Amino acid sequence: MKRELKLIKTIYTLEQLKCEPLSQIAIAGRSNVGKSSLINCLAGQKKLAKTSSSPGKTRSLNFYLILPEKFYLVDLPGYGYAKCSKKEREKWANLIYHYLNNNPYLKAIIILLDSRLSPQKLDLELISFLEQENIKIVPVLTKIDKCTQKEISRQVKNWLPILNTDPKDLILFSSKTGKGKNKLWQKLIDLGKN
Ligand code: GDP
Repeated sequence: MKRELKLIKTIYTLEQLKCEPLSQIAIAGRSNVGKSSLINCLAGQKKLAKTSSSPGKTRSLNFYLILPEKFYLVDLPGYGYAKCSKKEREKWANLIYHYLNNNPYLKAIIILLDSRLSPQKLDLELISFLEQENIKIVPVLTKIDKCTQKEISRQVKNWLPILNTDPKDLILFSSKTGKGKNKLWQKLIDLGKN
């Protein structure tokens, strides 16, 4: 089926966070993990989400409506960008945590993890917060085309106990080759429709 991702709104402050009663699936990851590329790949468009010419500069929450199913993919700002001021980082952490906390429409969060990096502190902090809050995690290893099969196996082995997940639920993704795209779409639709 042909699906569409349509940018409906971009918000910058807590006051703008009022939402329509539609299911939401958030997507998060460290800055430069390949989030914009993945959204563009899902949408089948080159420039829907900006890819980072200036990493860490996308400081908004972007609500993409998925059609025809009608639920939101919510693009959260990338974290871990070193050049942000402490104050700015705190402001954005506050917005993200407020968004994730007590959000009755949030069905799950897709966590993007760079397949070339071992587990990073900020990823582990976010994962442990989500587990505490009982928010369902959909883990995705990005840029898989850059790794050998051996490296992929090693990273999968690293991540599985941390994520406490089944190997079949860890999605291996490449925006470059499209690997994992159908599997991620299917997961999104399953989660978004209930
Ligand atoms: P974001 O900061 O998380 O939105 O990351 P971007 O989507 O802007 O990607 C950061 C960099 O990684 C860019 O140079 C992309 O071209 C590159 N990139 C993203 N995804 C992939 C992928 O699947 N394969 C390869 N080889 N490069 C990727």
